[in-house]
Amino acid sequence: MSTSEDIPQDLWEECSSCHQLVYAKELASGLWVCTKCGYHMRLSVWQRLDITADPGTFEETDGDLPLVDPLDFPDYMPKLEQARRKTNMDEAVLTGTAKIRGHRVGLGIMDLGFIGGSMGWVVGEKIARLMERCVAERMPVVMFCASGGARMQESLVSLMQMPKTSGAAGRVARAGLPYISVLTDPTYGGVTASYAFLGDIIIAERGAAIGFAGPRVIQITKVDIRPEVQTAEFQYQHGMIDLLLARGQLRETLADLLDWFA
Ligand SMILES: [Zn+2]
Repeated sequence: MSTSEDIPQDLWEECSSCHQLVYAKELASGLWVCTKCGYHMRLSVWQRLDITADPGTFEETDGDLPLVDPLDFPDYMPKLEQARRKTNMDEAVLTGTAKIRGHRVGLGIMDLGFIGGSMGWVVGEKIARLMERCVAERMPVVMFCASGGARMQESLVSLMQMPKTSGAAGRVARAGLPYISVLTDPTYGGVTASYAFLGDIIIAERGAAIGFAGPRVIQITKVDIRPEVQTAEFQYQHGMIDLLLARGQLRETLADLLDWFA
């Protein structure tokens, strides 16, 4: 007789949208899109890299920047160290070079698991350096955004990353190089207000929450906003986004765009 202990724990996963159980193997082969309701589950940086770049082509850049606590904010450093241990990431963005269907690009992927994917000094610095590397080496930029916005513990230093990354995106544009920004669930705050919306082509993944003020900020300010306003679908209907894609279309569309720009 089989007992519950015989059933492998990782065989099924519960969809956080429809709460039905989905066969884990099917989820992985379907790029972590719920087979029951089509919900696009949030990905780790490594899952995103796996489904985007040509295998074995990724080379990380600037993965050795130190943790910084510019304002000596209480309990911030232990929080950073904890986020490092939890995510196995040095900060909330992974940057490097990779190939997408043979095209070498500068690739950035944000990690929502690292203090909500928030943008502090290191995140801004890594993204600006990635863009500057793209200018120096004549590569397109592909940036996957996922962020709650500014890093509260870095206050003004965090906000300074908005002009810094915007300036770097401007240098990419002046160099005549394409910048493709992909907005994934969720993209909010200072990231929305800077490099996320500065791409030559702005793509959003279906079902992603996209907006400036996040739901918690809206709750505090008691402003009445219909929930559908802050969705990729609404932003697409109102011309803020160029392409609204299912996850399964993303890699090939990126590759087609890179073909076209080349
Ligand atoms: Zn579902």
